[in-house]
Amino acid sequence: MTLCNVVDVPRRLEEPAPCTVGPPNGSKRVYKVGHRRAAGHTAMVRAVLLLVAVELAAGIVAASTRISYDGNQLWRIFLEDAEDKKVIVDLKKEGWISTWGGNATNLDVIVKPEAIQKVQEAFKNEDIKFEIVIRNLQEAIDAENPPVADDNEDRSGFRLNWVAYHRTTVIWDFLEYFAKVYPSLCTVYNIGQSYEGRPIKVLKISNGNPTNKPVWIDGGIHAREWISPAAVTYIINHLVAKFEEESDYIQNTDFYVAPVLNPDGYEYSHSSDRLWRKNRRPQQPDLVTGRVCYGIDLNRNFGYKWGYDGVSHNSCHDTFCGKGPFSEPETRVMRDFIKGNLSQTLDRLPKKLAAYVSFHSYGQYILYPWGYMKVVPPDYLDLKLAADQAVEAIVRVGGPRYTAGSSAVTLYPAAGGSDDWAKAAIGAKYSYTIELGDNGRYGFLLPSKLIKQTSKEALAALRVIVEAAYLKA
Ligand SMILES: [Zn+2]
Repeated sequence: MTLCNVVDVPRRLEEPAPCTVGPPNGSKRVYKVGHRRAAGHTAMVRAVLLLVAVELAAGIVAASTRISYDGNQLWRIFLEDAEDKKVIVDLKKEGWISTWGGNATNLDVIVKPEAIQKVQEAFKNEDIKFEIVIRNLQEAIDAENPPVADDNEDRSGFRLNWVAYHRTTVIWDFLEYFAKVYPSLCTVYNIGQSYEGRPIKVLKISNGNPTNKPVWIDGGIHAREWISPAAVTYIINHLVAKFEEESDYIQNTDFYVAPVLNPDGYEYSHSSDRLWRKNRRPQQPDLVTGRVCYGIDLNRNFGYKWGYDGVSHNSCHDTFCGKGPFSEPETRVMRDFIKGNLSQTLDRLPKKLAAYVSFHSYGQYILYPWGYMKVVPPDYLDLKLAADQAVEAIVRVGGPRYTAGSSAVTLYPAAGGSDDWAKAAIGAKYSYTIELGDNGRYGFLLPSKLIKQTSKEALAALRVIVEAAYLKA
């Protein structure tokens, strides 16, 4: 059963781009730049370099070209005061470094090969402490997802496994497989299309009990966070294939699971730019340069306190929140599906989600609202209790100790996030963003051999949240 007509997506969209690893539209263009004192000659070079940086950030790279991060390094910077932060902001403005992740006290940044000497010098002058985490990002990218022999032959109904990262079509086939093999438990919904016309699919898992409470799970809002769709499919596999072994809480919940909410970005991160984060909608050309930047940060595009803080209004930036709340097809179809589904099929229940869980990476955090500013909702103690219990559950399955807390306080303010919206607008009492592993050693480039363990952690946390929602939401 589907809510919408199945849309025929042009095949070419789903096919991997030719694998032209190498030359550079981006960071491999080498411009030698001296350090600050010797850099009098560099106004023009700097302009060109800036252009390259902007091109990279903007994703102005033909879909058939793969960006190389050869020589780029990942550094962890330890921030001590506002002065340090200002140095970072300036270096970012000049295009020397770009932010990868971090929290209130440390920051993970990518340093381009031609900037290494300059940034090192700036840090030395300002006494900013840092360590080099990855010496060559491209090598980490190449090692992340090696081809593996299919270990699924014995139950080969689907191509997906948890020893490699998979493309969107493989994930969609996996959902269809479950709907076909477990028709009394699973239903696939095509909830709409991405900007580039790819389908966005949701799997409903339900025993049909009319008093079940609804729980939404999603992954892949941010394209480069590959562990997220992988963990969400792992969760689906466990919930469905071992349904009878699960708790009453799990069995009497209606799960709506969307493993890849940003399929355009996800595909682009496989085919062209491994570190792409946003969706792929082109923006208006810059009035001065005529340049077109791509993509909106979908996790700044939801409609609660949209644009309030921690967002960018520059379409070339990674945290560009769009021109307005729900400006993007991907966030809109999610909103409309949840709202429509709640109003149509849950008449006997309050029209709200019991829990909302969005999987991201990286950093090992269990985050609850609010994200838009450093305040917490009135029932935050309930959210904190479940988050703390989820932390323990992760430790019990052999995982590391995640950090639990409200988003804005634990990380930084970021308005327009899906978890804030789910709580405020959809009434999801237990609303979480879970930043899966790792804690920065590989960052977004989590080697595929760590998928299973990280996914176990995701499932352990989810079980705790579902139990809390069943009992208290
Ligand atoms: Zn994310």
